[in-house]
Amino acid sequence: KVVVIGSYVADLMSRAPHLPKPGETVLGGPFQMGPGGKGGNQAAAAARSGSNVTFVTKVGNDLFGKNAIEHFEKEQFNTQFVKVADDEATGAALIAVDNHGENHIVIAPGACGTMTSEDVLEADGAIKDGDIVVLQLEISLSAVKTAMERAVIHNVPVLLNPAPYQEFPRELLRHVTYATPNEMEASELTGSDVTDEESAQKAANTLHELGVKIVIITLGRKGVFLSEGVSSGKIVPAFQVDAVDTTGAGDAFNGGFAHAISSGQSLEDAVQFGQAAAALSVMKAGTALSMPQADEIKTFLSG
Ligand code: ADP
Repeated sequence: KVVVIGSYVADLMSRAPHLPKPGETVLGGPFQMGPGGKGGNQAAAAARSGSNVTFVTKVGNDLFGKNAIEHFEKEQFNTQFVKVADDEATGAALIAVDNHGENHIVIAPGACGTMTSEDVLEADGAIKDGDIVVLQLEISLSAVKTAMERAVIHNVPVLLNPAPYQEFPRELLRHVTYATPNEMEASELTGSDVTDEESAQKAANTLHELGVKIVIITLGRKGVFLSEGVSSGKIVPAFQVDAVDTTGAGDAFNGGFAHAISSGQSLEDAVQFGQAAAALSVMKAGTALSMPQADEIKTFLSG
């Protein structure tokens, strides 16, 4: 069982020949809407990988909130701890993309931005029953902190994907079993640039010293840097595929990895599983809806 505690936002997207300058209006192509938010994307990746997923989040009592719940049910999440706020709109990401794939994004976190420690405490039973708790930094730090503390009390491993990066007290890292920053987030977390294997190990060492058990720095198409202890890391290469849209690659990795580790796979196998899920996701456009299904991942890994 995977418990994801995090954000849900509706992605609202259009492509335009160029991004608008301040004050400018440009005509875009077709309007596309779909489920998004790091929490929701990672939950979808874990559920499609084959896990029983409990998603703890908050949406509004509005059309996007209804769409969200329909999507959660379709993905077979346990929605017992999805709260519907009466006084907040469902979160939304306003995304403009130009012909070169460059984007402008404004995230209005709405309801999920108001998740509190109390909301997390209501899901304590699910945390206790979980095999892993998956967290990101797209909701309030107080909610994240409570989730970590409850997981530690119940002896449930914590995966922290520190994205999008926000400042937080370093002592929280001692609660973290698996930290999965990308290169930029690893640099921000440790204050030293991560650009290659040597600097990745240096950052991993800092994180180990702060109490993180296993450090997995995702390196985009290069793969991941996997470190199980001070100065013991190595690069595990990514699968070579033709990428169409790499948004959500990290979410696919985290969801796939969480599924694999919680179903008892070894660390190495779980990393490969996560990387396979991510490779398949970058071959399709979209985020939550581009997450691969279990049978696709299985075929990919055996082929
Ligand atoms: P994020 O999306 O959080 O920035 P990364 O870009 O590091 O995360 O990607 C996460 C993982 O997705 C990588 O470790 C890798 O396994 C996979 N991945 C990302 N881009 C590609 C690509 N172009 N080809 C194959 N795998 C990729």
